Amino acid sequence: MGRIEVSNLRKVFDAGGNDLVAVDDLDFTIEDGEFLVLVGPSGCGKSTTLRCISGLETPTSGEIVLDGENVTRAKPKDRNMAMVFQNYALYPHMTARENMSFGLKMTTDLSNEEIDERVENVAEMTGIERNLDQKPGELSGGQQQRVALGRAIVRDPEVFLMDEPLSNLDAKLRSEMRTELQNLQNDFGVTTIYVTHDQTEAMTMGDRIAILDDGELQQIGTPLECYHTPVNKFVAGFIGSPS
Ligand code: ADP
Ligand code: MG
Repeated sequence: MGRIEVSNLRKVFDAGGNDLVAVDDLDFTIEDGEFLVLVGPSGCGKSTTLRCISGLETPTSGEIVLDGENVTRAKPKDRNMAMVFQNYALYPHMTARENMSFGLKMTTDLSNEEIDERVENVAEMTGIERNLDQKPGELSGGQQQRVALGRAIVRDPEVFLMDEPLSNLDAKLRSEMRTELQNLQNDFGVTTIYVTHDQTEAMTMGDRIAILDDGELQQIGTPLECYHTPVNKFVAGFIGSPS
């Protein structure tokens, strides 16, 4: 399970008395287990789209349906989706272990022993098993992002929503973690929407990519389809298709 249908999604912000259309009538479907990359230039509406899907933002109109259930008005915690942010968004006063277990303590009735076991297994998977008793300030950027990723994985969600999770890391670590993220997704088959402004990331990571510009969906397809048969000049230019 983990199929998402986004229909007529629209989000308008009030910008000093003027309407700012951040997301304009977006329609697309993500299949169960798919890795979809949402890509486009800065300000095109990627984060707003993801925040509407996760419930951190309420759409102006349109619907989000998860496995046949309309979740448009559901609280984030009732959506069975886990979000990973660019700035990690860890609690600075908590250890890695506490950051990873906090959500489980709040939303499940697992025992402390069960939570510890789950956290330790996931920490091994994400390579931070030796950092569990450290606080974010004592960890490198890469390690912090591994904790943030671990925090999402321990919740065993149906959907991962990732907003530029690697963009604060240096190039070498970024490419290492790209591969790790793909391996994780292959192993678990969790539906993933991955937001980036980086074409290379989109082309190499996505089963399909959805290309946004100015709040509007330009094209959705496999990386090769978009590269070889771009639907317009924007897509061709953005992806660097041969002309
Ligand atoms: P991206 O993630 O692609 O860079 P965003 O979704 O963050 O783009 O933003 C899309 C547009 O919506 C931008 O013009 C941005 O300034 C505007 N926007 C985003 N969030 C808000 C907000 N909370 N209030 C007003 N405008 C916003
Ligand atoms: Mg953004």
